[in-house]
Amino acid sequence: MCGIVGYVGTRDGVPIVLEGLQRLEYRGYDSAGIAVVGGGKGGLKLHKAKGRIRDLQSSLPKRLKGAPTIGHTRWATHGAPNDVNAHPHVDFSGRFAIVHNGIIENAPQIKERLAAEGIETTSETDTELVAHLIGLAAREHDDPMAAVRAALRRVEGAYGLAIVDAEHPDRVIVARLGSPIVLGLGDREMYVASDVGAIVRHTKQVVHLEDGEIAQLEPDGFTTQTLDARPVQKVSELVDLDAADYDLGGYEHFLRKEIGEQPEAVERCISGRIDERFSTVKLGGLNLEPHELRAIKRVHILGCGSAYYSGEVGAHLIESLARIPATAEAASEYRYRNPVIDPNGLYIAVSQSGETADTLAAVEELTRKGARVLGVINQVGSAIARSNNGGIYIHAGPEVSVASSKSFTSTCIAFAMLAVHLGRIRDLSPADGDRVITALRELPAKIAAILEQEDQIEEAAGWLAQFENAMFIGRVRGYPIAREGAQKIKEVAYLHAEAYQAAELKHGPLALICPEMPVVAVVADDELAEKQRSTLHEIKARQGPILAIAHETLPTELAERTIVVPRTEPELDPILMNIPLQLLAYHAARALGRDIDKPRNLAKSVTVE
Ligand code: GLU
Repeated sequence: MCGIVGYVGTRDGVPIVLEGLQRLEYRGYDSAGIAVVGGGKGGLKLHKAKGRIRDLQSSLPKRLKGAPTIGHTRWATHGAPNDVNAHPHVDFSGRFAIVHNGIIENAPQIKERLAAEGIETTSETDTELVAHLIGLAAREHDDPMAAVRAALRRVEGAYGLAIVDAEHPDRVIVARLGSPIVLGLGDREMYVASDVGAIVRHTKQVVHLEDGEIAQLEPDGFTTQTLDARPVQKVSELVDLDAADYDLGGYEHFLRKEIGEQPEAVERCISGRIDERFSTVKLGGLNLEPHELRAIKRVHILGCGSAYYSGEVGAHLIESLARIPATAEAASEYRYRNPVIDPNGLYIAVSQSGETADTLAAVEELTRKGARVLGVINQVGSAIARSNNGGIYIHAGPEVSVASSKSFTSTCIAFAMLAVHLGRIRDLSPADGDRVITALRELPAKIAAILEQEDQIEEAAGWLAQFENAMFIGRVRGYPIAREGAQKIKEVAYLHAEAYQAAELKHGPLALICPEMPVVAVVADDELAEKQRSTLHEIKARQGPILAIAHETLPTELAERTIVVPRTEPELDPILMNIPLQLLAYHAARALGRDIDKPRNLAKSVTVE
């Protein structure tokens, strides 16, 4: 779930690994640790601690130097975050040290087996059990790769693993099943990480491991095989990433930096995809012929968290522009309800990282049952991107902040383009196609104009941060944005916020409205504007303070505060209306002194259940 970094080569791996781990800090973690083999008298040296990497660094013993080196940031699943449970974990023989991302599901059975061998554990983690399994297997296999393979054949669950062996101080062994591992190729040195961002400063030549693969890294290169020892030939690729994407670049927080990057991100997402001649959009990666797209009777969108809400925005776009029934659902629920597959349906999985475990599991369930699945993904080459029939890359660039901003917006843009594409091979007129395309092109400048109102939004956020609760409301296409806005403020400001369909307020939660319950209202000047006014009146009658995110043309005397959003085509309103909500959450979190880029209890790509 969290971070793995490793190094093998002639340099001291400790600073390289620590720096890499720092690049992954944004994912959220509770403890960190590092192991080194060789150097000085040889053998295995470990240092680990609860808390931040800088704490680990400041207490680092001088003798901890050399390579191979592996390091980890842990996001506890089994056992409390403390020094003992922090990774690396060492096997009973003291020979192997391992770091692990993920969850071992058959931990109780492994524990029993180890107990039968008289092996006791020192931590509460599932990871330590794998270390012992490797130690046990090494009794029967001289080759450490063979020992790791034998051990992993007994393991069920999800893992990204990096292992060092005190008896072979020239290598790091890594394995992947459901949790990403990427190898970085250097000049007589090799890197490994759970996220390319940790190593991109050193090399852009990378190899992605697939599930069920294991690799041995030595300074001069690597070999890859499957768990049953079949060799696998891997081709390296050049990653198109800039190390600066992982730097704050003068900003206080990644969230703020990435909110500010949205005009360019949207530009990138649209770039090269508009087809003027036919008033439509070209989406090369769908791998579906027009007649196949015409045969689709329903669109089902799946995602988790913000990806799910962007899917709800997408469902509205597809219904209104393509007139195909469309719905969005939380992938985390979908995967467990033995879904009935719609033979004429198109399924779309949304995930920024492309590694979200719940979404990936839903995709696997769907493909197993023969459904047609597309992905809307940011991370090129990620697990979900590789496991489906095609899709749309949103090209938002690396998103470092745990709370999503630009990838949410760019996913909505991708859905708008898909909706135009599906619409134009059905009944959307060329004039309507042009209308939406023109509006899409104008969005970057309009987002920039909203960002210029930051002072005013910051003031509103300071006001909102005084309350303990807030209600976010929106109507029809505004509702997913209310949900995303409430989610963002929960995530980063830890402010309790609920999202409601504006019309549902009177069916229950109106009981909560009082001077202590501020309402953030998403009110576009669209065909529902009059209805929205009635809702605002109902709130005012109960003295609920209102912050309106609204169009200029809408009389907003009912609201204490109004953030004005430029007009676009009504279908695209939610995309713009969300921008002030992002800044609102950011500044509320800042006013409350929260750890914005590392919100408590959260991690960036949720690769566990
Ligand atoms: N399940 C392991 C633990 O709790 C690994 C967690 C992680 O992915 O960081 O230690």
